[in-house]
Amino acid sequence: MLDLILRNLTLPDGRSGLDLGVVKGHICALEHRLPATAHREIDVGGELVCPPFVDAHFHMDSTLSYGLPRVNQSGTLLEGISLWGELKPTLTQDALIQRALRYCDWAVAQGLLFVRSHVDICDPRLLAVEALLEVKRQVAPYLTLQLVAFPQDGVLRYRAPDGGDDAFTLIKRALDMGVEVVGGIPHFERTMEDGRASVRLLCELAAERGHRVDMHCDESDDPLSRHIETLAAETLRLGLQGRVAGSHLTSMHSMDNYYVSKLIALMRESGVAAIANPLINITLQGRHDSYPKRRGMTRAPELLAGGCPWPLAKTAP
Ligand SMILES: [Zn+2]
Repeated sequence: MLDLILRNLTLPDGRSGLDLGVVKGHICALEHRLPATAHREIDVGGELVCPPFVDAHFHMDSTLSYGLPRVNQSGTLLEGISLWGELKPTLTQDALIQRALRYCDWAVAQGLLFVRSHVDICDPRLLAVEALLEVKRQVAPYLTLQLVAFPQDGVLRYRAPDGGDDAFTLIKRALDMGVEVVGGIPHFERTMEDGRASVRLLCELAAERGHRVDMHCDESDDPLSRHIETLAAETLRLGLQGRVAGSHLTSMHSMDNYYVSKLIALMRESGVAAIANPLINITLQGRHDSYPKRRGMTRAPELLAGGCPWPLAKTAP
């Protein structure tokens, strides 16, 4: 007697009319007209059955906060970051948890069972970190939530209130509390040089403590932004291959083609994954363009052809 049988399903490769048997949470049979019984049988009616979806880039601390405290007028990332700065002091742990749990219900209902969420650590109270760790605990039976310690205001740019910890210390505190991945935002640091230094600092921290890295990189239209190059080079230098991702990478759409041909080879060599965020970046990017207007997407086909792993992610709250 099996635990569960799904009858008459369709697989992503197009095969249909199959039955799938499950015992103790594991698939044990997949065939036409499975000759078995189960505690529970569901006729799927020919619907698609596939592995759960994974969202590799999300910000669960700002989920369902549209219009709080007001709507982004310019539509740019910079106004978005400043809006979040206005909202942050008014956040409560309870509101953060309730919004995140509501989102998780929606996510699971859509088949999303793994979410990597960045969580802003530029807050002396680490309120969002505490809240999302609580959410992670509560949703653990049905959704895997992986958290990234993300210095939204820049690990070097962030100005702590009097007596407060600097952002680098806050990241370490968040990791000590149970956050698993080191984040960063080099293109938001004050200068290109600070951005480069931030990538180096954060990769060294991850190497020292055995964490993964997922950095917001080059989320701009600036063709000369070079942080993904630094991230790939640091990955090689520190032996972090296979543990590092660069998110957004939108400036790649504006870079010189010869330079990109060299960059993609470096990314492949370093095993850095590229995470594209189409929903948010086709909205945020190109806001300063007259014509032509850039579309805000990194070079997905070229990255794929170049052998770089790249998941798609949402990022928008
Ligand atoms: Zn993001």
